[in-house]
Amino acid sequence: MSDNRNLIGELNPPLRILLGPGPSNVHPRVLRALSTPLVGHLDPEFISIMNDVQSMLRRLFGTKNTMTIPMSGTGSSGMETCFCNLLEPGDTALVCVNGLFGERMSDIVGRLGGKLVRAEAEWGKPIEPDALERALKANPARLVAIVHAETSTGVRQPLEEISRITKDFGALLLVDTVTSLAGCEVKVDAWGIDACYSGTQKCLSCPPGLSPVTFGDKAMDTLRSRTRKVSSWYLDLSMIERYWGEERFYHHTAPISMIYALREALRIVLEESLETRFERHRLNHLALAAGLNSLEIDFLVAEPYRLPMLNAVRVPAGVNDLNVRKYLLNRFGIELGGGLGPLKGKIWRIGLMGHSSTKQNVILFLSALESALSAEGVKLAPGSASAAAMEFYSHNEC
Ligand SMILES: *Cc1c(COP(=O)(O)O)cnc(C)c1O
Repeated sequence: MSDNRNLIGELNPPLRILLGPGPSNVHPRVLRALSTPLVGHLDPEFISIMNDVQSMLRRLFGTKNTMTIPMSGTGSSGMETCFCNLLEPGDTALVCVNGLFGERMSDIVGRLGGKLVRAEAEWGKPIEPDALERALKANPARLVAIVHAETSTGVRQPLEEISRITKDFGALLLVDTVTSLAGCEVKVDAWGIDACYSGTQKCLSCPPGLSPVTFGDKAMDTLRSRTRKVSSWYLDLSMIERYWGEERFYHHTAPISMIYALREALRIVLEESLETRFERHRLNHLALAAGLNSLEIDFLVAEPYRLPMLNAVRVPAGVNDLNVRKYLLNRFGIELGGGLGPLKGKIWRIGLMGHSSTKQNVILFLSALESALSAEGVKLAPGSASAAAMEFYSHNEC
């Protein structure tokens, strides 16, 4: 006789509105793609699916790079891929640090036996090109690494000047576009980026699990002229190149369902068009800002450097960060991000990424936030925040 008492129940997580630092909500078409029956990873059908993914990724990255592939792993695997393929023990890496992900890059450089030099800015501010120039003068480096969209602070890093300085010193430019790709402009070739990685669960609105990576000619030359093997077998692009390239030589089994999902997510992005998608992110960000402004909630970041897809705002004085986030989650099913490191308890991170960046979410969030703030004893005029956002939308259709 079977005893069912100890069986685990059916999987039935609550439906959430994901307005944090990622993952974002996934489009139903992408969820459907995930349930598509498998083919083998060397099936001719799958090879054409891989080609589709590569060609669409090149359009998103703004690159002609042949080596443009999704690595099997989350965004951090793309970060590790870039560093471990380009650095050899003893090489100097100049890492720009103004938030959590610059810190993570620094950690990786150390683990690889690289010589770490840091150019820093306060959390919430961009890296000043002058700071990079001074650091490069004092420390000739093989590569400069920088985060385009610092998800821990909401800072958008302008890259043109950084790129020019990096080239002047003959270093490679490595850029993290995990949060920016598919949410605002990323131009790998035009901005002279040599190596770049992203992630699927932010503005691509695909589940976490793949990390799109692209390497230009200079980065590939650096990889090919290494004196020793890449320390990671799994992330060695010289081997992975043979699987994604002409040979289709077995390296590891591609996560087929995730590649299906990414293919569908990329199709959705290109159907919308990059320009329309960036404009949608920008307008929803501005509508949110109008609502927050009416509640006298301030942004952490100065206006020119704000990310449209990640809004870092200061927790008002006298309001408990955790109470508000719990209230939003329990009563409205809305997930919000809290602050990290020096910003713990001090900011909220409101993500409007990909499929989560909608007018409906902005209006609902502002109303729910008003209710949460009232519960915290804040005096406010109910409905004023969503009214301010509505007023913005009445002049800016998206
Ligand atoms: C999310 C994120 C990462 C890490 O991605 P994981 O998918 O969590 O591994 C790296 N860099 C930035 C800027 C991110 O926002």
